[in-house]
Amino acid sequence: MIALRGLTKEFPGGVRALDGLDLEIADGEFFALLGPSGCGKTTLLRTIAGLETPTSGNIWIGGTEVTSVPPGKRDVAMVFQDYALFPHMDVTANIAYPLRIRKVPRARREARAAETASRLSLSELLTRRPAQLSGGQQQRVALARAVACHPRAFLFDEPLSNLDARLRLEARTFLKRLQRELAVTTVFVTHDQGEALALADRIAVMSAGRFTQVGTPTEVFQRPANTFTAAFIGSTPMNLLPGTAGNGALRVAGAVLPLPGGIPDGPIVYGVRPEYMDLSPTPRADAFAGKVAVVENLGTAHLVTLESGEHLIQTVVPEGAEPSPGTAAWAVPRPGRALVYRDD
Ligand code: ADP
Ligand code: MG
Repeated sequence: MIALRGLTKEFPGGVRALDGLDLEIADGEFFALLGPSGCGKTTLLRTIAGLETPTSGNIWIGGTEVTSVPPGKRDVAMVFQDYALFPHMDVTANIAYPLRIRKVPRARREARAAETASRLSLSELLTRRPAQLSGGQQQRVALARAVACHPRAFLFDEPLSNLDARLRLEARTFLKRLQRELAVTTVFVTHDQGEALALADRIAVMSAGRFTQVGTPTEVFQRPANTFTAAFIGSTPMNLLPGTAGNGALRVAGAVLPLPGGIPDGPIVYGVRPEYMDLSPTPRADAFAGKVAVVENLGTAHLVTLESGEHLIQTVVPEGAEPSPGTAAWAVPRPGRALVYRDD
């Protein structure tokens, strides 16, 4: 297990990259840190690894406080975005390198490297150097190097981001299976919400050095706690529209919508995912009226963008149900699917 208490990191010049983070990651959990570039993900991972010293706060790994323990003694393995393989060493030597540093005898470390290589389908490549490997193979060597030292935790910093889209999907499934088999606590940094949703047991959504929400993929997708998380999660962004609550209804972009319980009168932000609205060809009071501006083919569905006054509203419609550009349409939120925010 990994625990953080009040973890803060300020860089010279006053950048507060981590701002009082509290977190507990369970033993064996696959935990994703998700957020836009510059929000502090790499800094947090490096601080857990011991490569950065926190300005204040504490870190525990496996129940032991490690805040001032040097990186080599924390028993965690980090995999970087660029893999950081040694170009002059072959695959075996790369995988065995951390074991060599730990003075594991040669025969034992070579056996461990071979066994790990076989688990990661690298057995045919043991005598090749990194330049003779594809991107996906290099990525697996970097993974193997982390796996071979049997660490207490894996720390991954965007390990899939240098692969092309198809390989990234393969590597993602592979990584998930490997983590399930090994059951090693894993912290996985990504700016890709799809990757976080697909891989993680839980996700921390980060913005400007803080967690805006920590929860399961279902929680952060279905119940984003704030408009930042709502806008960040989802393969098509959530529609977020200003409106008002009052007289038992919500008034949003010309539509009169049911008022969920517990919402006081006043200004609100109305959130509904494009997947949770249906298009009506005829007028309805509980719908957003608009003109079809763009229809994009998503393969098995279409993303329709409506121009509704000053707002652009998006809906996803099934194959064959897409309207023609320029026609009038009404987007109807499905009952119980909308979220109402008072913040931001
Ligand atoms: P992410 O990995 O989420 O893109 P980083 O952790 O790399 O974000 O950076 C978080 C913030 O800290 C950024 O504003 C970045 O410019 C700043 N930062 C990171 N490393 C340093 C450093 N060594 N010195 C000064 N500022 C840094
Ligand atoms: Mg980073």
